[in-house]
Amino acid sequence: MNIVVLIKQVPDTWSERTLSDSDKTLDRASSDAVLDEINERAVEEALKIKEAGDAEVTILTVGPDRATDAIRKALSMGADKAVHVNDEALHGSDAVTTAKVLAKAVGTVGDVDLVLAGNEATDGRSGAMAGMLGELLGWPSLTHANALTVENGTASVKRETDEGTCDVTASLPAVVSVGEKINEPRYPSFKGIMAAKKKPVSALGISDLGLEAGEVGLAGSLVQVDSFAPRPPKSGGQKVEDEGDGGQKIAEFLVGQKLI
Ligand SMILES: Cc1cc2nc3c(=O)[nH]c(=O)nc-3n(C[C@H](O)[C@H](O)[C@H](O)COP(=O)(O)OP(=O)(O)OC[C@H]3O[C@@H](n4cnc5c(N)ncnc54)[C@H](O)[C@@H]3O)c2cc1C
Repeated sequence: MNIVVLIKQVPDTWSERTLSDSDKTLDRASSDAVLDEINERAVEEALKIKEAGDAEVTILTVGPDRATDAIRKALSMGADKAVHVNDEALHGSDAVTTAKVLAKAVGTVGDVDLVLAGNEATDGRSGAMAGMLGELLGWPSLTHANALTVENGTASVKRETDEGTCDVTASLPAVVSVGEKINEPRYPSFKGIMAAKKKPVSALGISDLGLEAGEVGLAGSLVQVDSFAPRPPKSGGQKVEDEGDGGQKIAEFLVGQKLI
């Protein structure tokens, strides 16, 4: 079985995240970067399938030079090899463009049976990648999986959203996006970290994918950020003095806010 796991290096949630004044894209250099935690769960799910049977796990990312750290982390968990699509022209790519690039890159990995992704990245948060990739590859996409079974050429998931849980099944090849509850990702062992240094990482540019500079990045993207403003600092909120009428005052406040 040939499994591809999509990983993304994102700004560390705890570090300051800003947009650059020049082109209004995320200023990735100014913040610490980490492998998006949801992607560790996607890698973990691939490794569980590999350990339960026979599979090769390929990590795939579209990202700048420093995304190599995220790739090494995923390889140190136990994945076999990686593909790093890294090209200046990709800077500022929107979600549709990133999906196009990922679809082309999946095509370079050979006969792929399953693509695993996170259900939502902590930076872009479009939560649409799995669906878009399925559409571009002509494969079914099963999203927000908090349980996954792969057997007899099919993938079955328990799809969990705010609306509830439903069972969804599709024939392979397929794209599956995982949710936070699907598993507890393993910590890389020292042996795993050392082995990761020797695992193959193939670097691709857009020309290797048959794409032109005008089709990707800010130039090829449908979405442009026009302007941005920092979020206003949180106000302290209204203080209620309870002189026996605290409940009354809170009720009046909630009515005033049209919350009740
Ligand atoms: C603050 C911010 C706002 C943005 N707003 C928009 C917007 O409104 N519209 C828009 O089209 N684009 C937007 N983008 C760009 C968009 O985030 C990127 O194109 C991104 O690569 C794909 O979208 P996502 O992260 O939202 O994907 P999601 O669908 O949220 O990501 C889900 C999963 O897809 C996979 N994945 C996503 N990106 C990659 C990648 N580069 N390499 C490998 N796997 C990946 C990962 O498994 C990830 O867990 C924004 C980016 C930022 C940082």
